[in-house]
Amino acid sequence: MSDLEEGIKYLEKYNNVRIDNKLNGFQAFRALMNITMPIDLSADFYRLQDKIIQDEYKKKKIVMLDTLIPFNKSLYLYKGDITLLKVSAIVNACNSKLLGCFHPLHNCVDNAIHSYAGLQVRRDLMKIMEIQNHDEPNGKCKVTNGYNLPSKYIFHTVGPTINGRVTINDKNDLSNCYKSSLQMALKMKLDSIAFPCISTGIYSFPNDIAAKIAIKSVKDYIKENNSKLKVVFVVYKDIDYLLYGSEIKYDN
Ligand code: ADP
Repeated sequence: MSDLEEGIKYLEKYNNVRIDNKLNGFQAFRALMNITMPIDLSADFYRLQDKIIQDEYKKKKIVMLDTLIPFNKSLYLYKGDITLLKVSAIVNACNSKLLGCFHPLHNCVDNAIHSYAGLQVRRDLMKIMEIQNHDEPNGKCKVTNGYNLPSKYIFHTVGPTINGRVTINDKNDLSNCYKSSLQMALKMKLDSIAFPCISTGIYSFPNDIAAKIAIKSVKDYIKENNSKLKVVFVVYKDIDYLLYGSEIKYDN
């Protein structure tokens, strides 16, 4: 039996489900990871899972920061998958439960990050949330290791959800997602950090306003703190590439 088959069998048994046989290979394993609460997974399972994820990474190309061209001083723009990027920390756009996405193979960034980092991240966040004993407020930052990701750390932040009009509070919350992550990166003396377009997916923050807030929050913070931190804006959608591309150049 291959590692992948063994991993699928393990998680099917652990979750007491049978995986849809239309899914195969890593997709089947990922779908099972997504529904798994890592309450008593064994060290042997984590070793097997890590091998499966690392085998998957062998088929992909890791993007090193020094292959990107800075757009404006220490600011970079990268169009692609944040799980392929190697920086000191990547930021995850989470929901307030902070345990990752439980919808099998969902296309949110939270699902991608947890799936390629491994179930250790959900385990670590469960501990953090147990101690905290309440939902994570918007705009803060919690840290875990990156485990199987090319990046060393994951910063978990909750962006605002927009229902109708964007309020001042929503704008402040979004700005705080960026600022608290940058503050953590400085505190941890990291070299580089990468942000996805927080809140602009399921949380429905308008892309143009979000891009302006993201870039202004980062530029202000870097300036105020006279920081050398390299910051990558990771855009996934064409619209964000255009918006960030035009916004990032201006020295505002
Ligand atoms: P939110 O709930 O904060 O809106 P989403 O994950 O739904 O978070 O969307 C945030 C942004 O992340 C969107 O622009 C989405 O297209 C993008 N995204 C989704 N998957 C990835 C990925 N693997 N790498 C980078 N960005 C991603």
